[in-house]
Amino acid sequence: MKLITLNLFWAVITFIVLAVIFSFFLNTGPKPEALTINDLVSRINAGEVTKVVVSGNDLKVTLSGDKAAIAKKESESSFSDTLANLGVDKVALQKIALEIKDESGFQFWMGILLPTILPLLVIGFFFWIIFRQAKGGASQAFTFGRANIRLFAHSKDKTTFKDVAGLREAKQELEEVVDFLKNPKKFLEIGARIPRGVLLMGSPGTGKTLLARAVAGEAKVPFFHISASEFVEMFVGVGASRTRDAFATAKKAAPAILFIDEIDAVGRERGAGVGGGHDEREQTLNQILVEMDGFERDTRLIVLAATNRPDVLDSALLRPGRFDRRVVLDMPDIKDREEILKIHSRGKALDKDIDLRKIAVRTPGFSGADLANVLNEAAILAARNNSKIIKQDNIYDSIEKVMLGPERRGRVISDKEKEIVAYHEAGHALVAAGLKDADPVHKVSIISRGQAGGYTLKLPIEEVRLHTSSQFLADLATAMGGYVAEKEMFGDITTGASNDIKVASDLARKMVTRFGMSEKLGPMTFGESHEMVFLGKEISQGRNYSEKVAADIDKEVTGFINRAFAAAKKIINTNKKALDAIAKTLIEKEILEQEDFYNILKPFNLKPSGI
Ligand code: ADP
Ligand code: MG
Ligand code: ZN
Repeated sequence: MKLITLNLFWAVITFIVLAVIFSFFLNTGPKPEALTINDLVSRINAGEVTKVVVSGNDLKVTLSGDKAAIAKKESESSFSDTLANLGVDKVALQKIALEIKDESGFQFWMGILLPTILPLLVIGFFFWIIFRQAKGGASQAFTFGRANIRLFAHSKDKTTFKDVAGLREAKQELEEVVDFLKNPKKFLEIGARIPRGVLLMGSPGTGKTLLARAVAGEAKVPFFHISASEFVEMFVGVGASRTRDAFATAKKAAPAILFIDEIDAVGRERGAGVGGGHDEREQTLNQILVEMDGFERDTRLIVLAATNRPDVLDSALLRPGRFDRRVVLDMPDIKDREEILKIHSRGKALDKDIDLRKIAVRTPGFSGADLANVLNEAAILAARNNSKIIKQDNIYDSIEKVMLGPERRGRVISDKEKEIVAYHEAGHALVAAGLKDADPVHKVSIISRGQAGGYTLKLPIEEVRLHTSSQFLADLATAMGGYVAEKEMFGDITTGASNDIKVASDLARKMVTRFGMSEKLGPMTFGESHEMVFLGKEISQGRNYSEKVAADIDKEVTGFINRAFAAAKKIINTNKKALDAIAKTLIEKEILEQEDFYNILKPFNLKPSGI
């Protein structure tokens, strides 16, 4: 905006300057007297005229005494004819110097043209400035339908399958795509239909984008990348035309890969929209479908799309001939995590005796992106400590930072508060140690991190995909541990337990309504979650059961919580001395590693039990 006003200012200034120069040219010297032709004749007769210059119809007259005057003649007749008609004295006329100037002189034309052309020029100049201005900001108004498609073609640091750890099944599936891009003949000759669309499904950070890029790298073809959210704009119709443009660009470069990231942004079930903008999305989706149908069998363009919400995709997208291949990217297991860590520790100055396996053990539930982040944070931590190499401790630190937020050692807490936090965390840890089905304690800390005042880190011995109801109960009891310890020791409860209670309540409700773990209600799920497409979140829970069942559910949830509470209470009450010992050490040392923790417990001879 500022730029525009500034340029407008200059335009006005230029205009004024030009006007001044122009008027200066036109009026040089004192204004000559204007004579009528009759006047001129009588002056000639009176011998007052010394010279007349005729140029066209204009007469420049010089009067005696060098005074200038101008006059005009009729255009039809010549100068002498006109004078003769008006009865000029021939003798007088002969005394005058008569000069006839060429009509087509430069000055003549300028005299005619300049007054007409100059304003036009100035106006044109104005428009030019304004257009040039507008171009910067609003050039999108003209290139709106063009897709903001990015090409990662022949970059030097090509991604290949080697850069992707784990994901063995996914890679196997995609090998086929690579094979096709490399030698399509083999497939076409036998009459095989070539895959057009492959949908990569997986949680955020599992490497969908990375893998898509690796496919292009393996096949050595150009990789076009566009995010589906870029299709959708404020203006109707833009999405469809951008889609067309993206496909056209990619097809021109075939064999190639077109990667549509986050396709759920446009590919959600049609007709399910709440709130504005879904019409535009539907048009964009339709256009994608049309494009997917519209290319010939031997066009070597393969469309890869990524989503973390395959459940919300429109079924038309998944039909044969479109995204009929689906590749699932799992969260990495412990072995994959070690491999991912290995890949990302390339080029980082790691301490010689760093054990990546141990780091993999500590990071269940971390995605590839999280792990990359952990190593990066560790490098930053090491650098901040002016260290030249990254140590194992830096990595442990950064794991907790990624999980819980940065450490806040600076937060000042009173001795009383510190004691409460210590007993609270000791409670969690003790209950976990006292239950057979709970995961072992890895670390207890009362240094606050992010939102948490302190934390107890438990990690499963081995990774499991299935959870039993006794494991859940043990989790519930462990969550209650902090609350119970505060209550038993201080007879009062602080707000520090609120998050634990929320986690426990949510878990207990899921056990009843989702996992069918309640004996009374049996193996049924209750409630349908409706999703608001507009917000992309479950914001309403539809009830498909009666008031009576609702009351039963509440009763069962309370039952689970009470059982967990009682178990936690029993462990804490029968091991008060152990609780004291843990809390005291925590107050002193602030952090207990796994070994220290179990060493404290040794003398108390704690026998883990079931619930
Ligand atoms: P998504 O697209 O699934 O959200 P990305 O492909 O963008 O995830 O992954 C983000 C980053 O995480 C990658 O750039 C890479 O550094 C890392 N990453 C994720 N998965 C892996 C993996 N399997 N192997 C190596 N690095 C990975
Ligand atoms: Mg991605
Ligand atoms: Zn707690």
